[in-house]
Amino acid sequence: MSQSEVASLLKAASFAAGKHRMQRRKDAEASPYINHPLAIAHILCSEGGVTDSTILAAALLHDTLEDTQTSPGELEREFGPVVAAIVAEVTDDKSLPKEERKRLQVAKASSKSEGAKLVKLADKISNLRDIAATPPADWALERREGYFRWAKEVVDEVRGVNARLEAAFDHAYEQGLRATREAA
Ligand code: ZN
Repeated sequence: MSQSEVASLLKAASFAAGKHRMQRRKDAEASPYINHPLAIAHILCSEGGVTDSTILAAALLHDTLEDTQTSPGELEREFGPVVAAIVAEVTDDKSLPKEERKRLQVAKASSKSEGAKLVKLADKISNLRDIAATPPADWALERREGYFRWAKEVVDEVRGVNARLEAAFDHAYEQGLRATREAA
C-alpha cells in the first residue's frame, strides 16, 4: 500500500471515529461504536486477505451514511467516488420500515459490487460474533436466532466473492447459534 493509501485509511478511521463519537453498541457494556467498523476492516484484511485500500476505507466508513450526519457528497469529497459509492451501496434506506429494509438487503445483495459484497460479508461476520459473545441485553433468544438466520440469507446471496470470509461466516454462524442456544 502506498503512503497516500495508508494516509487515506487512517483518515477514514479518524473520520468515522469523529462521526460515531456519541454512539454506543448494543452490548451490555455499551462499547464505543467505532469498535465495530474497525473490527470489520480488520476482518477483511486479516481473515479475508483484502488489501485494497478503497474497500478497507469503505469498511471503516460503512455506517456513517446510515447512522450519522454524513452526506454522500462529503464522503466523495474526503475519500473519492469509489469509496463513497461502496458506502452508499451498503447503506439501507432508512425511510423504509425495518422489515422491508431487511428484505431488500437479501434481494439486492447479489447485484452489489465486489467491494460492497466484501464489506457486507465482514459486517455480518462481526455482528454474529458480537451477538454470540456479548449479546444485546434486551434481545431474547428468538430475536438473536432470527438475526442469525437473516444474516445467512444475505451472505448466501454474495457467495463466491471470498472463500475465506465465507468459511469464517459459516463458522461464526454455527458456533454462534450453538453458543446462543446454550446460553438461553
Ligand atoms: Zn455495520
